[in-house]
Amino acid sequence: MENIEKVRCLIIGSGPAGYTAAIYAGRANLVPVLFQGMSPGGQLTKTSDIENFPGYPQGISGFDLMEDLRNQALRFNTDIRYGTITAVDLSAAPYSIVIDGEKTIKTETLIISTGATAKYLGLPDEAKYASSGVSACAICDGFFYRGKNVAVVGGGDTACEDAMYLSEICKKVYMIVRKHHLRASKILQKRVFENKKIEILFEHEVVSLFGEHALDGAVLVKRKGKKDEGKEVIDIDGLFLAIGHHPNSEIFKPYLEVDEIGYIKTLHGTPKTKIPGVFVAGDVGDPIYRQAITAAGSGCKAAIEAERYLIENGL
Ligand code: NDP
Repeated sequence: MENIEKVRCLIIGSGPAGYTAAIYAGRANLVPVLFQGMSPGGQLTKTSDIENFPGYPQGISGFDLMEDLRNQALRFNTDIRYGTITAVDLSAAPYSIVIDGEKTIKTETLIISTGATAKYLGLPDEAKYASSGVSACAICDGFFYRGKNVAVVGGGDTACEDAMYLSEICKKVYMIVRKHHLRASKILQKRVFENKKIEILFEHEVVSLFGEHALDGAVLVKRKGKKDEGKEVIDIDGLFLAIGHHPNSEIFKPYLEVDEIGYIKTLHGTPKTKIPGVFVAGDVGDPIYRQAITAAGSGCKAAIEAERYLIENGL
């Protein structure tokens, strides 16, 4: 006999979007099943302190916030499971989701909240200073570097925005740009060039990081591969990566529309996709805001839409 289970609401992903969707779906008696995915708790579990999630005046660790959200989802009967989604078939409802290549779940509604993964340079030192100097979110962690010297890696819009944001908080901000020009929009370039606290190091790349307990600085290579290649050392307490994100949308691409980077497109600012009953919440559909609170908000919207869809279709 085939290993098939039928559910009304399946949520993929366990970041703030997935858990918030589960809380709302659970309270609406949808008996949601949530698959945690490869990194339970999502990106936030890699952040030390979160001070901008409303409701925590003293701040909260990313780990604790995700535990709270998880427990709240459990309280409303969310069936939280381990397992990786290895295949999907969204060609007809109910939609088929294959877990670990073995089991198929058929669901009337699907909430995709698989998140996005920040890109890192791939240096071993990045992991070493993960919660003591290296971050991929300036808005989340910039505050901890008040009055200090920091650097932003990247030359796109995110890097420019991060550099300007950090310039309001930090003493000095280096931008480390591998090419001899910025990729960012002209208006952001102008703002960065005019900002006296920002120094742009064109044609520089980070080769290693140093510091005994926390980050103290970075070794850079200048004009790599050119005749005048040279080394440079900068003293910094924080290194912010702004070299892009990778939305975790791969498996859905045959069915859903994505933008040129891979973010899933939704309809008119709602969590709806072009497939009825399939919704998107959180960073996998959000190239702009990418915040825990915006992800949580979109999880709420997705669950409300899922409930409406089930009622409207008598399911
Ligand atoms: P982008 O892909 O636009 O830029 C990434 C930057 O990182 C580029 O300068 C790239 O360099 C650099 N980079 C990539 N890999 C490496 C590496 N291994 N080492 C060093 N540098 C590297 O990403 P963004 O996150 O900036 O932007 C993503 C999208 O979101 C864009 O479409 C952007 O316009 C949009 N966005 C819009 C905003 C706004 O309108 N306010 C704000 C933020 C983002 P290179 O140029 O050499 O490839």
